[in-house]
Amino acid sequence: MNIHEYQAKQLFLEYGIPVPAGKPTVTPLNATEITESLGGESWVVKAQVHAGGRGKAGGVKVASNKTEVADLCKTMLGSQIITHQTDAAGLPVNQVLIEKTYPIERELYLSLLIDRGTERMIFIASAAGGMDIEAVAHETPEKILSLKINPIAGLQSYQCRLVAYALGLTGKQHKSLERIMRGMVDLFVAKDASQIEINPLIVTNTGELMALDAKINFDDNALDLHPDIKAFKDPEQEDKRENIAQQFGLNYITLDGDIGCMVNGAGLAMATMDLVKLKGGKPANFLDVGGGTNVEKVCEAFKLILSDSHVKAVLVNIFGGIVKCDVIAEGILAAIKEVHVTIPVVVRLEGTNVEQGRALLSNTGLNLYAAVDLAHAAEQVVALAGGAA
Ligand code: ADP
Ligand code: MG
Repeated sequence: MNIHEYQAKQLFLEYGIPVPAGKPTVTPLNATEITESLGGESWVVKAQVHAGGRGKAGGVKVASNKTEVADLCKTMLGSQIITHQTDAAGLPVNQVLIEKTYPIERELYLSLLIDRGTERMIFIASAAGGMDIEAVAHETPEKILSLKINPIAGLQSYQCRLVAYALGLTGKQHKSLERIMRGMVDLFVAKDASQIEINPLIVTNTGELMALDAKINFDDNALDLHPDIKAFKDPEQEDKRENIAQQFGLNYITLDGDIGCMVNGAGLAMATMDLVKLKGGKPANFLDVGGGTNVEKVCEAFKLILSDSHVKAVLVNIFGGIVKCDVIAEGILAAIKEVHVTIPVVVRLEGTNVEQGRALLSNTGLNLYAAVDLAHAAEQVVALAGGAA
């Protein structure tokens, strides 16, 4: 789960990581009040969306007086922000963060994530902060330092010094960096984060370190342990169909093709999408209805797939292992009738009672095609959706 920058900064404060003085707002009406309470001479208005790259997309703007701050709030609130991390529609700006500006001497990069290969937390640091870290990693990998943490020994002071040297920090900045790194590790472990990113971590003109941006991702599987984090959830920032899918225990991800896919099992769903691509088609979604699926789930799955107006044909690929094929076939028929599916649906069934299942699906008078095998099913659905691209 993602959270907003202003929420991440609240957590940073709790863990002793310095952040700029700032306050979020949902309306331009209290912008002046906030600006006055923050003090200072110039401010930055930052669109709160679950995506990075806001600076380049007009989502981070500096104002030099109270009126400008209020005007920026007015323009940003209610708009959509499109950055290189969002889709073409962008994300809605329902909140902005008003912050005091700080004179920036240097912009650094510091993040903490999980290295799956070694099953350890790993710090990534670079003196080339403020920019796209993927580009830095690609073009100048020597500018990136990575450092694994032993889960039993924990973060060691010498490791913090290594990072401080690599970032070109001096004197008492070493101690500040160590406090920030320890805060990140403590927060990461306590709240089951999967990533904490500070880009940029700045050095001000008086030599102070400060997290100017804050991005935290949390492990969805641990959210029930952290009601405080769960309360940060903002469904407006997430794909609507993916939200509905979650409510019904379906694993659904929107893609940009025109062939709807309904499959049981994540591995089979991936293989099905591969095969659709191989036959020249483009999947409109990834959808795993789960092992023990039932009529209700199949109905909801159809509704989800059909709510995407790009979908021209649907491929249902179900392996009847836990559930028998005839039960699934009945479910598909009920769902097609209930949801009034009119576009072609190709069904590939395999497993227990497959003959009974296929018999149920033939001669129904519906726009339904029973495929003999998976390759055939993929060819059929691609043809029915208008042929290979
Ligand atoms: P994003 O990563 O989404 O583009 P950031 O929060 O990193 O957004 O802001 C982009 C840039 O705006 C920063 O790299 C920094 O140069 C500037 N900036 C952001 N917040 C402040 C601030 N409080 N004071 C001064 N400059 C800021
Ligand atoms: Mg940033």
